[in-house]
Amino acid sequence: MGTRSRTEFPVITKTAKIIKKMRPFDWPPEAACRDVRECKYKPLIHSTGFFRAKAKALIGMAQALVNDYGGRVPADLDALTTLPGVGRKTANVVLGHALGVPGLPVDRHVLRVSNRIGLARSDKPEVVEQQLCAALPASRWTLASDTLILHGRRICKPRPLCDSCSVQDDCDYFRTVIVRERRAADRKNARAPKRIRTARR
Ligand code: SF4
Repeated sequence: MGTRSRTEFPVITKTAKIIKKMRPFDWPPEAACRDVRECKYKPLIHSTGFFRAKAKALIGMAQALVNDYGGRVPADLDALTTLPGVGRKTANVVLGHALGVPGLPVDRHVLRVSNRIGLARSDKPEVVEQQLCAALPASRWTLASDTLILHGRRICKPRPLCDSCSVQDDCDYFRTVIVRERRAADRKNARAPKRIRTARR
């Protein structure tokens, strides 16, 4: 499921509940299709937003898994991205977290944080994925993505908390934007005429 709801927590919680309920590893493919067709999971995904589109994607994905892959989830990025509703980011999450195959999902946090620090230079997720994968051994890809996502959620938010950040000294954005802004503000304050306080009578 995509994470377009206001916070990602409900999506993660719902996804965990669905997976627990589905028990995908002992779940016959025909039952998978039937359960999804009958929309048994709709109440579970309702609160994540766009649930009709997500239900449609789940149905298409389950049917494609049954028809094209014998009910097994393929451990291959290109094959995964042919499934309805599965983009490159989701495919990499499945590879890295469910199948033990190196994958580096690039979401909005990875995109923002890696560009700010200077680990990557692009506004295109696919290009950032290539740059990060080229810079890291495959065994570190999934953990690197998780780390950047957490850092983006907690510290390097759209309005970054640079004073609480442990990579400040190695961050391009901090050196080139934040430090300059602070120096400019200091100069402006130094030029401003000082107010002279007068005692009230
Ligand atoms: S120093 Fe600021 S911009 Fe750089 S990674 Fe940390 S929070 Fe983000």
